Amino acid sequence: MDNLSNIGTIKAVMEKHGFTFSKALGQNFLVNPSVCPRIAELGNAKEGFGVLEIGTGIGVLTNELAKRADKVVAVEIDQRLIPVLKETLAEYDNVKIINDDIMNVDLKKLIETEFSGLDVAVCANLPYYITSPVIMTLLEQRLRIKTITVMVQKEAGIRLCAKMGTREMGAVTVAINYFASAKVLFNVSRGSFMPPPNVDSCVVQFELRDKTPQGVTDEAFFFKVARGAFSQRRKTLCNSVSSALGVDKSAVAKAIENVGLNAAVRPEKLSMDELISFSEELKKMI
Ligand code: SAM
Repeated sequence: MDNLSNIGTIKAVMEKHGFTFSKALGQNFLVNPSVCPRIAELGNAKEGFGVLEIGTGIGVLTNELAKRADKVVAVEIDQRLIPVLKETLAEYDNVKIINDDIMNVDLKKLIETEFSGLDVAVCANLPYYITSPVIMTLLEQRLRIKTITVMVQKEAGIRLCAKMGTREMGAVTVAINYFASAKVLFNVSRGSFMPPPNVDSCVVQFELRDKTPQGVTDEAFFFKVARGAFSQRRKTLCNSVSSALGVDKSAVAKAIENVGLNAAVRPEKLSMDELISFSEELKKMI
């Protein structure tokens, strides 16, 4: 069914199925007709690709993905939407809907069984309450995914796409830069949704790296150091890491000195290579 971003269509579909929005599930549906085609075009929904969508709503993006990609698998937690989707996506035989919580889905298995022989992309207008956990799950599992193209809150988008060595960065920036290159594709105003959220949004894209950065011998420790480094804003690397990891300040200071960094360096000044060298050096000392 076309026209799914039309307010009249949404209202009619909702009324017919007695559907009401759930705030807890982050249900803000897109009502701006130009947004979903753009996500689908820029998000690699095309021949040769299987697309995983997270959170269908009434299927406005699913519809655009199904028009372009070889196959779409969409995971939607709200079972009240399943009969709605049967109707709105009736014309497509390349769409499979899974009624589940995305955090409970075995994504490796899903990709193997559903997208065999296809390249894989993820596209979604994400429910904002689980933006970071969903993105980190998609990245950390080293899934066979080329790109992740998702709508997130604007502020979150800026943080997620921050470059290493800039003020906007945080621990999540380190993790994202480790697994992918990230960019903001375009902004979307709050008025593009029904009901409108309190903040504006943007669509971001992560292109997954074939190879993660060299030199990390213990990823769990590296990410622990990264989280520790950014645990206390405006503190020096030495103070933050020492208090977050419970490591003696002199050991942290020695590791900083050994890799040639300034003793008072702040974490947001570090490049990926510098953070890796520091973490490796610290690991040797404790
Ligand atoms: N794609 C639709 C659109 O753009 O209009 C809906 C987007 S709405 C922001 C988020 C959707 O994700 C809702 O349909 C909601 O029910 C669903 N959702 C929320 N939590 C989820 C979860 N843990 N797993 C799967 N879907 C979820």
